[in-house]
Amino acid sequence: MLTHLYTRNDIKQAACELLRGNIIAFATETVYGLAAPVFNVAAIEKIFIVKGRPSDNPLIIHISRLDQLSQVAVHIPPLAYTLARAFWPGPLTLILARHPHVPGIVTGGLDTVAVRMPAHPDALTLIDTVGQPLVAPSANISGKPSSTRAEHVLEDFNGKITGVLDGGICSQGIESTVIDITTSTPLILRPGPITKDNIEKVIGQPVIYNPTNEHTSGALKSPGMKYRHYAPEAKIIVLENKDHLNQVLSTTEKPLMILSNEFATAEKNIHVYPLNPKTLYHYFRQSDKNNISTIIIIHDAVSRLDTALLNRINKAAQKQ
Ligand code: AMP
Ligand code: MG
Repeated sequence: MLTHLYTRNDIKQAACELLRGNIIAFATETVYGLAAPVFNVAAIEKIFIVKGRPSDNPLIIHISRLDQLSQVAVHIPPLAYTLARAFWPGPLTLILARHPHVPGIVTGGLDTVAVRMPAHPDALTLIDTVGQPLVAPSANISGKPSSTRAEHVLEDFNGKITGVLDGGICSQGIESTVIDITTSTPLILRPGPITKDNIEKVIGQPVIYNPTNEHTSGALKSPGMKYRHYAPEAKIIVLENKDHLNQVLSTTEKPLMILSNEFATAEKNIHVYPLNPKTLYHYFRQSDKNNISTIIIIHDAVSRLDTALLNRINKAAQKQ
């Protein structure tokens, strides 16, 4: 299969392919997604196969207009509209009660759906042109770092999907915040660019941050979070500061990569890049390409407090 590289002038063509049940990747402000229309079960099955995604890992539904919410969710509480007004289009995913018309394959059999309105203009135009909501899991082979550039999508899926709508470099670079508002107290299931503080300021009530995603009953609320994610091949060593760096360097095989905003070196075998959510996955992917066996992450005053960044680093460092 030839994978086309589309630009915003080709959105109509990309939309036609989606309506035919072919898989198209597109940019959002968070990461690139692999799209299919929400009611097209055969196309959604293709996404699971091409990604190697476990079938119990549900998909986020992407809408371009608020009135599409009632096509995929029921019993929508006023809180959903408060959050939508404040943060959409943007990187906040709401968990709501599932509309019976939403196929089970989308939700991994759950009675809830995950919905958001992405902020990238091409994404909104694509959804509008298709005329129905699109499911779009991150455009990466399951377990690998998400794609934040069209070239990343091609690394994983060239020849395996119909096209990529190139929307440039994703402005956020990590996945959306996921918040469950079907519970009496809203529950953050995945931290992201919209923080707990941002949400609490808007809704005027406390929100629970649940990094383990353990529901009170013990069942997993966000099944996808149990899998190892975002991971490069390299071993990841996380340092709280530079204090023990020399010691670590003396015992680590080179070439190696350091992600830090406060360290520089002239040594050729040590590749140093900045540490931030926008470029994290890009450098993870670079490390794979350059056969780097170790990535040392050195935290600073800002990165240490970035809950979403810490979550992705911890997931990536977690070996199964
Ligand atoms: P990805 O598309 O790779 O960014 O992953 C989507 C994330 O949203 C996964 O971690 C899922 O577990 C989560 N998610 C999707 N639908 C639901 C749902 N109905 N309830 C809870 N979490 C969900
Ligand atoms: Mg993903």
